[in-house]
Amino acid sequence: MPSVFIKTYGCQMNERDSEAVAAQLVAKGYTLARSSDAADVVLLNTCSVRDLAEQKAINKMKNLVGTANSERRDQVVGFLGCMAQSRGQELIDRLPDVDLVLGTQKFHRAAEYLDEILAGRRRQIVDVAEEPGSEGTIREHLLNGAAKKSVTAFVSIMQGCNQHCTFCIVPFTRGEERSRAIPEIVDECRELVARGVKEITLLGQIVTSYGKREKRNEWLVARDADVPPAPRPASPATPFVQLLEAVHEIDGLERIRFTSPHPKGYGDDLVDAYARLPKLCESAHIPAQSGSDRLLKLMHRGYTRERFLGIIGKLRRARPAIGISTDLIVGFPGETEADFEETLSLAREVEFDQAYIFKYSPRRDTPAAEMPGQLPTPVKEERNARLLETINTIAQRRYEALVDQRVQILVEGPSRRNPARLTGRTRCNKIVVFDGADRHRGQLLDVRITRAGSFTLYGDPAIVNL
Ligand code: SF4
Repeated sequence: MPSVFIKTYGCQMNERDSEAVAAQLVAKGYTLARSSDAADVVLLNTCSVRDLAEQKAINKMKNLVGTANSERRDQVVGFLGCMAQSRGQELIDRLPDVDLVLGTQKFHRAAEYLDEILAGRRRQIVDVAEEPGSEGTIREHLLNGAAKKSVTAFVSIMQGCNQHCTFCIVPFTRGEERSRAIPEIVDECRELVARGVKEITLLGQIVTSYGKREKRNEWLVARDADVPPAPRPASPATPFVQLLEAVHEIDGLERIRFTSPHPKGYGDDLVDAYARLPKLCESAHIPAQSGSDRLLKLMHRGYTRERFLGIIGKLRRARPAIGISTDLIVGFPGETEADFEETLSLAREVEFDQAYIFKYSPRRDTPAAEMPGQLPTPVKEERNARLLETINTIAQRRYEALVDQRVQILVEGPSRRNPARLTGRTRCNKIVVFDGADRHRGQLLDVRITRAGSFTLYGDPAIVNL
């Protein structure tokens, strides 16, 4: 059987989609290649959120079908995901040696289409059509592949977004919000736990809108008749909180996280869920995007700075140790120095544990790309550097505050930088590196933090619970 190499660009949703495609191909007998050079099939799972991500994938494909391909004429190459969805046939017009272009509602068709191409029945396939029910097709996991057992897993709960922030291409690449049913999600989580998973992250483009677009409570009813019913919801809360409650009931599951939420979705029921569901980790990634009300309005974010600060206050009252991270954009069209100062002051006021800063990148067909006041690159870079410095200084302080404290970590496996050491995550989502043994993998351990590095903590093995 052929070997496949999948390179993933972009977010955790893309990582999860790639894993599901890989698992689907492995189930059909494919092997996973270590590099694109060694593979019979190379798939690039693309991201469209910034121009740079698109250019990286296009350049990688040019390399594959250029010089490398003259030696590997038989290699099948394809684009998957967001850029495949937004550009479709245009990619093949530009790069005629590409064999496959598969949109975001078609990941589950990868094996079938590759079979046709490899068997010579079809030369090229472009499929970016909408497909009802595709939100339920990202199910397979690669937990115990070549790598060692995973103790954490991502579970896709919904696809798409209806928010239409003016800078964002996601509603065009991922379509309208579509949610899976609670019993199906719970069933997948149960299976993962039975395979050794201790921590599950519920994934979607806007998870706090889970179930809101489905009519007649369809999100409560499994579409697959073989799936057992989920536990009865413990409260009349929003569908997302009901999903958290149902997943929380799973025996053997230790930790729950989710990403990405929208600040609008942090109603009192979700804040309350943090207080009453002990498996829900005290960490929250809440994209603020800007500290300026004027820009938040232009971005069509649907909340004000005051509302955002109110949510942070409530979460910290519910869980004082909560770790809070965010996304921030610099250089949005028309951003003045005063607007930018508001973002800096928001960062200082909230004291984020971590922030991902994005220099605004115009995306075609989005309203912000046509707005007046597009800023030159040097201004974006200068603001990016200033914000980064502020964020790093605050984060360092917050990490150092954990030194000498005893924290619980879930041990995930060898550290990427130094495989002789182990790494785990605190409940507030900070990485801890420590000297341990392979038997610690998958365990919940208390460690004492001895020092803080840059977005990494170091733990003392001497007091590890054995
Ligand atoms: S909520 Fe998130 S995914 Fe949806 S449009 Fe806004 S930034 Fe994009």
